[in-house]
Amino acid sequence: MMNSSQIALFLTLVFTSCDYNNTPHSEPSTSNETSMNKTTFPINKTDEEWKKQLSAEQFQVLRNKGTERPFTSQWNANWDGGIYVCVGCGNELFSSENKFDAGCGWPSFFDALDSTKIKTETDSTHGMKRTEIMCANCGGHIGHVFDDGPKPTGLRFCVNGVSIDFKNKEK
Ligand SMILES: [Zn+2]
Repeated sequence: MMNSSQIALFLTLVFTSCDYNNTPHSEPSTSNETSMNKTTFPINKTDEEWKKQLSAEQFQVLRNKGTERPFTSQWNANWDGGIYVCVGCGNELFSSENKFDAGCGWPSFFDALDSTKIKTETDSTHGMKRTEIMCANCGGHIGHVFDDGPKPTGLRFCVNGVSIDFKNKEK
């Protein structure tokens, strides 16, 4: 039997798309912890400063490019109208109007609220070629974008719920 942390690691490694037929790679996930790219962002904090501000899970996803377990986010099945913001800095990233149910277990959007508020970069870790989504303001890791989304964009922004917060329209 796997304990819960092993299960979390396993799910991290298989996180790629809705296609669960991919064979998981068993390389250790610690190798990329110091490979945060050197691109500068308007908000530039040390790990120590981020650790004071974020929960351990938020830090692992935003700053170490971790992946939450699927179907664990409170935002995955949230269909209220509003705006999703970066939990690291409050930058407005996604609108509920662009949210759809991808069935993957992660909050999914077919478009960003404003393309200048996110930054994308090729991610070749875990033996896959993916496009990483980062917050353009603080550089926090948000998720990945895939080209198997619905119309009109054909894109699927697959987002870690732990890296976003929700601001309800009515409030
Ligand atoms: Zn941010």
